[in-house]
Amino acid sequence: MHIQIQCCGIILMLVLFYFYVHQKRISLDTQKAFLGVFGATFFCIIIDIVSIGAIEYRHVLTEPIAKFVAKTYLVTLLGVALSALSYMCVDIYTKREVYQKQMRVYRLMTLAGVVGIYAAPLYYHYTNNGADVKYTYGPSVYVTYGMALIFFVRIVYLLRKEKVKINTRRKEAVYLWLFIWIVASQIQFMYTDILIVAYAGAIGIMVLYLKLENPETNLDRSTGLFNSGAFYQYTRQLFAKKEDFAMLAIIFENTAYQHVSLNKRETIRMQIVEYLLKIQDAYSFKNAEDEYLIVFSNMETADKRVEEIRRRFASGWGEYNGDTVKPCWLYLPHANIVNQAEILLYLIRYIRHDEKTFTEKDFYCVEKDSVEKIHREREVVQLLLDAMENNRVEVFYQPIFSTSEHSITSAEALVRIRDSEGKIVPPGAFIDTAEKNGMILRLGAIVFEKVCEFITKYPLDRYGMQYIEINLSVIQCGYENLAQDYIDIMESHKIDPKYINLEITESASTNAKKTLLSNMEDLMQYGVRFSLDDFGTGQSNLNYIVDMPVDIIKFDKSMTNSYFENGKAKHVMEAAIHMIHGMNLEIVSEGIETKEQYQTMEDLGISHIQGYYFSKPLPEEEFIRFLEDSLHGNENKSLP
Ligand code: C2E
Ligand code: CA
Ligand code: CA
Repeated sequence: MHIQIQCCGIILMLVLFYFYVHQKRISLDTQKAFLGVFGATFFCIIIDIVSIGAIEYRHVLTEPIAKFVAKTYLVTLLGVALSALSYMCVDIYTKREVYQKQMRVYRLMTLAGVVGIYAAPLYYHYTNNGADVKYTYGPSVYVTYGMALIFFVRIVYLLRKEKVKINTRRKEAVYLWLFIWIVASQIQFMYTDILIVAYAGAIGIMVLYLKLENPETNLDRSTGLFNSGAFYQYTRQLFAKKEDFAMLAIIFENTAYQHVSLNKRETIRMQIVEYLLKIQDAYSFKNAEDEYLIVFSNMETADKRVEEIRRRFASGWGEYNGDTVKPCWLYLPHANIVNQAEILLYLIRYIRHDEKTFTEKDFYCVEKDSVEKIHREREVVQLLLDAMENNRVEVFYQPIFSTSEHSITSAEALVRIRDSEGKIVPPGAFIDTAEKNGMILRLGAIVFEKVCEFITKYPLDRYGMQYIEINLSVIQCGYENLAQDYIDIMESHKIDPKYINLEITESASTNAKKTLLSNMEDLMQYGVRFSLDDFGTGQSNLNYIVDMPVDIIKFDKSMTNSYFENGKAKHVMEAAIHMIHGMNLEIVSEGIETKEQYQTMEDLGISHIQGYYFSKPLPEEEFIRFLEDSLHGNENKSLP
């Protein structure tokens, strides 16, 4: 028996260990578990050598001692398998209790294996007419292989069952590790004089190290700080352990370096990074080009450290500390008010994009209520995504009455979402969020498509319906492809554009006027018409109406209401009506709920009335029934 191969394994592992300890590391449970596998493998190789020696000198040591050592080597093989299983479980069972429970079972199994190995007999296979031992065999070896096999099968089972929890890299690495072990033991089984199992263990460690555990993969190359992947792993672990921690985000917006001359910026940036690298009781991460995150796991010193850091920034940078850099600060004294790494990152994004927060003050402490708001918003996003994917976006129609024709001649399409329990969610609950994250583009297109389907499905002309009004969000108005998208939808449904009237609001024009006007131009050329919604809510700039190529002005409910409450408002509204009529535009009065309100609006010469007085927004089929009823004059007493 020779020990050269084992010695190679030891050298390989020592080299890896040297690299491992000389790198900046973050305290991760997976890394600890990796060290477990490393230690078990290293020990296994050492004992392998010792046992070869013991067998060699069995005449001196006595047979039982030599066999005891040889069996100990078998036990260490089990140790490697157990440590590998633990390494897998740390990643899968982030909850400490579940992990511990699993490991308890495996440890018990290992213990049974150890007892079996020592209890079962072990035989030598001799060569040279009994002078040399070539290899060992017998029940003790079979117990080892059997147990190891059980653990390996369990690892494969976990890899397959929990595949969503394990990233692909880890899966590949562990499969490769298993493959190396299995191939090596097969070779050793077939060519009994090649003792390579322990060496294969060292190679396996190298695979894990290179693919998964190289601490360098957690570092940001340009700064030497930890990177965003490390941040994610580390905070995920803290959340799983339910440990509270504090986090400071230092955000360098464009304005941060405005007091520093351009040629000095890079030097100062490096100076800041140097400083961040040295902060005590904390890990510093570079999360994005302009964003650094500092995690304090020691809650007692966190506040103090944050103060120190801010003081350091206030004292200036550069050669004579004369240059001030003004980042924005976002501090979470208790980061466990959120419960997931993803939400923590989302929260930073969210607060960063909520410009109001940062222009008001440069130091922002995140409290529980802002987190709750974000939670609610995330729920809404989920609701929206779910609804859009599962065809649970619905369109309700609210009839609009024409005072001149004394019948319903149009309707407004209003979006609704049906949640997973079948309850209707009104737009007030999700439009803002959808606008904020851009989902409104998809939602708006879905609504438009549904309205087009509705128009082709029913004989609107027969009901005296002239067109459907559809809301356009500010975001849609500023979207360059809107006109083309909508024209494509109308073409695909072969819709006559005369049935379409799009409602825009005043805020749409101030934001992205150029895009809006070009969208409007294209759509109008195609035959679509426009209304101006919510008149009377914003600045209600009358000049604005002059600029905008709309056919209809929609008076907001608040405007009609104040007409009845306030003397001055009366005059304003009358003047507005006069002017709008002078421009040959039509008016829709919204939010009309009573007969009296209706009568007043009709007397004022308003051509169209919308409101609960006629009907609330109705689901498609109910709306059609409503139209049929009003056409036949049946039962519908509300039509004047
Ligand atoms: P809006 O465009 O001003 O729509 C009129 C809102 O007033 C509707 O609320 C309607 O149900 C309500 N309403 C109508 N008559 C009365 C009344 O007599 N009394 C009272 N109290 N309310 C009345 P809804 O359906 O909840 O929609 C709210 C807002 O959501 C809409 O205001 C609109 O800004 C937005 N929205 C609705 N559907 C869409 C859509 O498809 N796309 C976009 N971008 N926004 C939409
Ligand atoms: Ca509207
Ligand atoms: Ca409106």
